[in-house]
Amino acid sequence: MRAARLYGIGDLRVEAVPEPASPAGDDVLIKVLAAGICGSDLHNFKTGQWLSRKPSTPGHELAGEVIAVGPDVRKFRSGDRVVADSRVACGTCPSCRRASPNLCRKLGFVGEVCDGGFAEMIVLPESIVLPADPALSPAIAAMAEPLAVALHTVNRLAPERGEPILIAGAGPIGGLVALVLAREGFGPVSILDRNEARRQLVAEVTGASPATLDDAPSTRFAVDATGSVAVAATLAARAASGSRIVLVGIFHENLTIDPNLIVEREIDLIGCGAFAGELPVAIERLPAYAADLASYIEGPIRLADVPGAYQDLINGKAIRLKTIIDPALA
Ligand SMILES: [Zn+2]
Ligand SMILES: [Zn+2]
Repeated sequence: MRAARLYGIGDLRVEAVPEPASPAGDDVLIKVLAAGICGSDLHNFKTGQWLSRKPSTPGHELAGEVIAVGPDVRKFRSGDRVVADSRVACGTCPSCRRASPNLCRKLGFVGEVCDGGFAEMIVLPESIVLPADPALSPAIAAMAEPLAVALHTVNRLAPERGEPILIAGAGPIGGLVALVLAREGFGPVSILDRNEARRQLVAEVTGASPATLDDAPSTRFAVDATGSVAVAATLAARAASGSRIVLVGIFHENLTIDPNLIVEREIDLIGCGAFAGELPVAIERLPAYAADLASYIEGPIRLADVPGAYQDLINGKAIRLKTIIDPALA
């Protein structure tokens, strides 16, 4: 079968790989119908930060159809439509025992600690496979995982009704956070991005108004989905007293801020890593969000086009927020 594999920093190759063996134990063999390219895939491509095995097939946002199941699998049989939970947790550390696998000390992700969805097939343990509505297009179903991240971001932000909310970054997470906030009646929401076409797309879909970092002092609720330390530092430095700022972007450098600003203005700087219990909620909401999600999607593209799509996303050339791969496209 064909797969895109990461060999090292900046080295992504599309090539033939052996098909997975028939599934053993609680493994589920899935034909990948759609897989999304995530900002964290690009971060790993640029930095190699999570490259624990070489080569590895990226892709943790995926939807597919079950082809075969191991003898211990109870929930699925062939023909079932499914989506993947991206989180691979140890199951035994204090966070895992508290049912917070996203805070697992050894947390890894599908596509890093095991081969991911940028391939014609993938094998996953039953514990991280969830049922999906067969009526949904696979591209929409593959949006469940990033939508869960957006739901978790909104839960961590816990905005008050009627309060303005500033989102920095109109990429996939910023755009999905704006969508969730609009759908749940929070805001007014304003959004900024140096990619004006992307910001306009999110504005059209969600009604979010244009923002600049100068709006930070008048906004008590803010989200950084840029992963730019300059943006996050400016948000924190200009934040109003009593502000809550959620950091959900993946950063490439260290953040320098005056801690006295955080102290004196009682600013809550909140981290947001993946999602907690939000994935089933995200799956439930997909039908209602489908039309809006469709306007965020680029593609589907072929596996052969993945290296070029990475470059377009890294160079800020992509307008649509989420590039979806269909590995069956020749
Ligand atoms: Zn992701
Ligand atoms: Zn754990």
